[in-house]
Amino acid sequence: MHFVQTKGILSARNGMNLYRGCMHGCIYCDSRSACYQMHHPFEDIEVKENAIELLDHTLRSKRKKGMIATGSMSDPYMPIEQTLHMTHQSMECALKHGFGYTVLTKSDHILDDLDVLRQLHQKTRCVVQMTLTCMDDELSRIIEPGVCPTSRRIEVLKILQKERIPTVVWLCPVLPYLTDTKENITGIVNACHKAGVWGIICFGMGVTLREGNREYFYDCLDRHFPGLKQKYIRTYGQSYTCSSIHHNRLMHLFHDLCRKYSIEDNPDRIFDYLQYFEEKKKAEQLTLF
Ligand code: SF4
Repeated sequence: MHFVQTKGILSARNGMNLYRGCMHGCIYCDSRSACYQMHHPFEDIEVKENAIELLDHTLRSKRKKGMIATGSMSDPYMPIEQTLHMTHQSMECALKHGFGYTVLTKSDHILDDLDVLRQLHQKTRCVVQMTLTCMDDELSRIIEPGVCPTSRRIEVLKILQKERIPTVVWLCPVLPYLTDTKENITGIVNACHKAGVWGIICFGMGVTLREGNREYFYDCLDRHFPGLKQKYIRTYGQSYTCSSIHHNRLMHLFHDLCRKYSIEDNPDRIFDYLQYFEEKKKAEQLTLF
């Protein structure tokens, strides 16, 4: 890892990345794509050394409170988090200034922060987002080697359910020829139902590949699934979007199951839900009059 000083920490919509790069090694990772212009090896994590100080200052001076979001470009619970505790400190900082917090991860180390998540949930608001792509733990260990297998992630969702902390699942990507099966999609949605997941984000039954992540993905396919790279090349060429040949059937299945279990499946409504803090505040203010 290496340290840098950063000038800004929050995006216009309060998104935040404390780290750049990721150690989890998911074979399909889009954050590796060349368009993000990372000037260091992806596994050599860039740590924004002054991020917490900057966040503290930024939140103190913000007039409007809202949800702070992290985890879109790298997993906030990489192994270095256990030493640096920056994700943890950012949660403490949000809590201190009366902001809400939402975090996207694939790691059971989110439970290391259960205490602060509880406090956020009680005092402001928090939503945990978890990615589930593959119900087969053996396959999940190959395609997402740096994180706990899916069965453990489902246990984590159930622990959060017991704590009444709301959760959202990202069902993406769905890898053609590997995870694009009826059994897999049904298994994931059923597991979400049992774990009381509020919404599932699924943009389609496929994966996106572009310069940077395509090369890594193909190297991994060669290593673990001989012959599959050639199948991808024959089917998709250089396409950015690689949709499963079962896309339509699986999307129908996904929406039918979500409807059956009353799980939100509209991405726009789920993104609104993740930002809900301000609406909640307005509603609370209205009840005062
Ligand atoms: S956890 Fe996310 S950012 Fe990290 S390698 Fe996997 S997909 Fe990429």
